[in-house]
Amino acid sequence: MPGDTVFEVVEAGGCEQVVFCNHPASGLRAIIAIHSTALGPALGGTRFYPFASEREALVDVCRLARGMTYKHAACGNDLGGGKAVILGDPTALRSEALLRAYGRFVDGLAGRYLTAEDVGTTQADMDLIRRETPYVTGVSESLGGSGDPSPATAWGVMWAMRAVAERLWGSSSLAGRHVCISGVGKVGAALAGHLADEGAKLTVADVDSGRASLTAERHGALVVAPEAAHTVGCDIFSPCALGAVLNRHSIPELGCAAVCGSANNQLDTEADAVRLAERRVLYAPDFVANAGGVINIAEEPHGYVRDRAYERITGIHATLLDVFARADAERTTPSDAANRLAEDRIQAVSQVKLLRGR
Ligand code: NAD
Repeated sequence: MPGDTVFEVVEAGGCEQVVFCNHPASGLRAIIAIHSTALGPALGGTRFYPFASEREALVDVCRLARGMTYKHAACGNDLGGGKAVILGDPTALRSEALLRAYGRFVDGLAGRYLTAEDVGTTQADMDLIRRETPYVTGVSESLGGSGDPSPATAWGVMWAMRAVAERLWGSSSLAGRHVCISGVGKVGAALAGHLADEGAKLTVADVDSGRASLTAERHGALVVAPEAAHTVGCDIFSPCALGAVLNRHSIPELGCAAVCGSANNQLDTEADAVRLAERRVLYAPDFVANAGGVINIAEEPHGYVRDRAYERITGIHATLLDVFARADAERTTPSDAANRLAEDRIQAVSQVKLLRGR
């Protein structure tokens, strides 16, 4: 793990600012990490999770905030990277007071950080936070928000798959393509619906067998055991559950031509991007493919209009084709090319911001 002291961890994570929030009366202990505001205010979700240690929480929040910088930059958002963690078990600790106290800390950052839903937090939590600060996204539509981002994420993954199809098979049509989705929760189930509409053939897996069979019944999919999903012989394997599913053990067993899913941090290490390329499996970098949710949320500050947001999300198709072309031109992996794309945009737009405005 990086560094011994707090500042060494923050430095290793490359963060601009890290804020520790403490409110004993409600039991709130939270860390907000702002990785970069070069492109705009930092936006990223609040994870409510019982971390094994404070150090693990700090390392994780810095890593997650950095990931958001790249995600926003690659999808064209005028937003920077940030993330927050609330330490503890949400089922035991969640309360109105804790969430509103957290909202006050977010408010104190005066818009440098905008929060959103993440693992362990819900839309109802965002609505409570909204009572203390305007700097929260993904609140209910009745409060002017865009609601749950999962349908938008699923829509974006489908457009990423179209880019994969165009690249591998010369047509963006998914009709007749066999897609294996691992994890049919909020995103995976919506994705299965889109793919069924497109005429794709589906296989699904989920540790919750009820969810797997429900999706299978709805869309005529086959069901496989979760531990076998990556081995299924198919056109596209779509991880929509956990991170680190692409690793030195799973990659040799892949039965697909391409990987394209919503899960965050699908690669266990950067070496796994090279392993995929060596096996000639096309990888759609996760933070490009799963950006639909943040593109949707980024429309909120302008007054949310669903059609405009979904139109922008289809742009993931073009972005991913650019990433593949760049990987070819630079003789590198799509993962590396996507990182460069994000870094180049941050660099270029930062230069523009040096010009004096009105
Ligand atoms: P979710 O919790 O609704 O669904 C996850 C599903 O995966 C659940 O049905 C769960 O039972 C299943 N699952 C858990 N472990 C599994 C395993 N080992 N094998 C197969 N299935 C397993 O979550 P979600 O919102 O659908 O998000 C899915 C993934 O996409 C997560 O990695 C999330 O971080 C990422 N993501 C989500 C969004 C979004 O808008 N929801 C945006 C970007 C990225």
